[in-house]
Amino acid sequence: MVDETKEGSGSSFWMEIPPAAVAATDFDRINRALKAAARIPVIAFGRITPAQRAEDLLRAGEADMIGWARQLIADPQTPNKLKEGRPDLIRSCIACNDACTYQTAQEKGIRCVHNPSAGRERHFNERTLIPTSRKRKVVVVGGGPAGLKVAEIAARRGHKVALLERSRELGGQVNLAARQPEHAVVGEVTAYLEAQLGELGVEVRRGVDATAEALGALRADAIVIATGSEPNLPKANSGAGALSAALGLHVVPDIPGLDLRFVVSCDEVLSGSVHPHGKVVVIDGNGDWEAAGAAEFLADLGCEVELIASHALVAEDLDGGARTLFHRRAAIKGMRLRTGCVLLEIGERRVQVAAAFSSGNDAGWGKYVLIPSDVQWIEDVDWVVPVIGRRSREDLFLELKSSADFEGVEILRVGDCVAPRLIQSVIMEAFDLARTL
Ligand code: SF4
Repeated sequence: MVDETKEGSGSSFWMEIPPAAVAATDFDRINRALKAAARIPVIAFGRITPAQRAEDLLRAGEADMIGWARQLIADPQTPNKLKEGRPDLIRSCIACNDACTYQTAQEKGIRCVHNPSAGRERHFNERTLIPTSRKRKVVVVGGGPAGLKVAEIAARRGHKVALLERSRELGGQVNLAARQPEHAVVGEVTAYLEAQLGELGVEVRRGVDATAEALGALRADAIVIATGSEPNLPKANSGAGALSAALGLHVVPDIPGLDLRFVVSCDEVLSGSVHPHGKVVVIDGNGDWEAAGAAEFLADLGCEVELIASHALVAEDLDGGARTLFHRRAAIKGMRLRTGCVLLEIGERRVQVAAAFSSGNDAGWGKYVLIPSDVQWIEDVDWVVPVIGRRSREDLFLELKSSADFEGVEILRVGDCVAPRLIQSVIMEAFDLARTL
């Protein structure tokens, strides 16, 4: 609920540019109250999503105009699409603040995590794409954000595009992220792209195992591999398997115990393929939603959660507002957070951690390198979820690239299959790649 004493003040900036954890309807009663009291036109503001809600507010007389900022960064065509009766094609702002406010806070140009045109309209613009002069058959393997974006832009340029996805659902890792508490709206990223593919007539095949043999039979001119990534743990090997390991492309962190049976990935937790219980230690090695979201998911399941970060803050890289609200929920849900702490070893029902920095060695090279200190064991641990990096699923790309059967076929890769990253980077990369097809 909105705290009426602090709406939009400097001490509650998450109510000025509300992140996804602030409910989209929380501002309605403020807008209503303003409208009832004002003798001048009222402009309604504050996460008016989905965009159709704007029309509802106007129709109900609860506002005279709609003030959108982030929604128009995410999709400047929002009013036109509403006017045309196509709300299904609107790219919704997901209230992440990861690119727009993140950039402007640093006095940099505006960006958006899933609108690559924002702030770069001359370079990345769906409306000014140059149609291809040689129509080709393009096959995209993988239905995560990178694969979907390549398929969309290639189709917009006039190519004949087919997209193959191993599971029954499009979305890839975004589907897992959307299961994290207060984070469902991230699913709008791939929902938008899926709607575009439908509109553009891209052939989408789900539940398909895209083997080299199956791909060869499709007689494509270009194949774009967008098979994503997986947690960089010894057990996880669905697609980042034997070939890339044999080539020495897997470097699993040298932490004893990562292969123990009660050590699981955040993907396994969020997909529901494992069901941790009791005391769970989650390691936040990257500072974004992956560990924080999985930890909160586990807390909601009733686990006793301890979340350990090597950084100065848990979920350090989140937008400040989103992070503050996460920390509040973590406190409410009884999660224990430790910072400045690194994972050293996992033993039977125990986890060894240490302070990331030591003041004990300040001479010679000691002042440049990480020297853990204050080593201690966390005891009676039932499950461990280390979020310590991901690795590309690149076996299929490597196989096709070296196969004589695919001579003359352009074999490309995109997104996490190149290097695991956040949505903004892979969508931009996918747009750029599709422009060259
Ligand atoms: S970066 Fe996120 S919050 Fe900002 S406009 Fe884009 S989707 Fe909305």
